[in-house]
Amino acid sequence: MKKISIIIPCYNEEKSLPLYFEAVDKIIPQLKDYTLDFVLVNDGSKDATLKVMNDLYMKRNDITIVSLSRNYGQNPAFAAGLQSCTGDYAIMMDADLQDPVEMILKIAEKFSEGYEVVNPHRVNRMKDSYFKRKSAKLFYVFINKLEGRKVIPENVNCFRGISRRVIDEINKLTEKDRYILAEVPLVGFKTTEIDFAREERQAGESKYTLKKMIKYACDNMASSTAEPLFFPLKFGAFSTIFWFVISLVMLAFLMLGHFNIVGGMDLIMVFCIISFVFFGLAIVIDVVGLLGVYLHNILINTRNRPTYLIEIHKTPEDKKQ
Ligand code: UDP
Ligand code: MG
Repeated sequence: MKKISIIIPCYNEEKSLPLYFEAVDKIIPQLKDYTLDFVLVNDGSKDATLKVMNDLYMKRNDITIVSLSRNYGQNPAFAAGLQSCTGDYAIMMDADLQDPVEMILKIAEKFSEGYEVVNPHRVNRMKDSYFKRKSAKLFYVFINKLEGRKVIPENVNCFRGISRRVIDEINKLTEKDRYILAEVPLVGFKTTEIDFAREERQAGESKYTLKKMIKYACDNMASSTAEPLFFPLKFGAFSTIFWFVISLVMLAFLMLGHFNIVGGMDLIMVFCIISFVFFGLAIVIDVVGLLGVYLHNILINTRNRPTYLIEIHKTPEDKKQ
């Protein structure tokens, strides 16, 4: 029988983890051709998550614990889980039951049909705020249009099923800034999507604030497309031509004596020029910000620091010794 490793990143999930295993144990008997094991990644939790993991580890024989040295974030936690999973397939999912455990059965069916990447596609975003839905849509359209291919599939999160071939290819990536969202499509292989309704969080709190979401979107952009780096050049070329034409027109007006600069400029003209100056300044600030995002990405990668450090690593085999 083939094995599927379920990878679960956990940051302060002491309440969610027991509920997760209660739910997943109900579906395990329905899984025909596969066995399951679980890689629980403790991402520097400050509550009793590690203790809850240890209790589960002692009770069951299907749990590996990877405890990171501090909080690194959901994506590095997934990367750590992928490195230590031993399954023929892996499913990456959250601890809070927002990714329904019943989906494991559907993803397994797709593995049996020969798919190497199964993307659960979220269909119910109606509970998200209008702003969150629209900004998410804008993000996907923007990045995919720029790159001219689907670098990030729409409404698919880190919740994914992947085959050993895909796991091995992702594990070979040397980038330090890890983004599962962009890495799975980058690797490719036979991919399918299945629709699902994302549930409400069962316990605990979401760790993604608006500030974190904006940073996440910027970092994902920098790691998936370099096209925005051409924006300043394109805009610069356009505005050079624009201002050249304006200057010529102004010069013509001056020479024809239509206005003299000292007294003849009316208030609207002054207002227009001030607006243009501020607009230009705002664009310059945006460009510097954009360069900062890419500079950050280059810095992270060239500095070559470890993406995460593991403090504790325990497999079911360690219990037998
Ligand atoms: N998570 C993590 N490290 C973090 C933040 C989150 O490992 O720094 C885990 C968290 O425990 C959960 C998953 O990533 O299992 C998704 O987090 P969350 O539910 O807060 O995100 P949301 O569902 O609100 O997007
Ligand atoms: Mg969640």
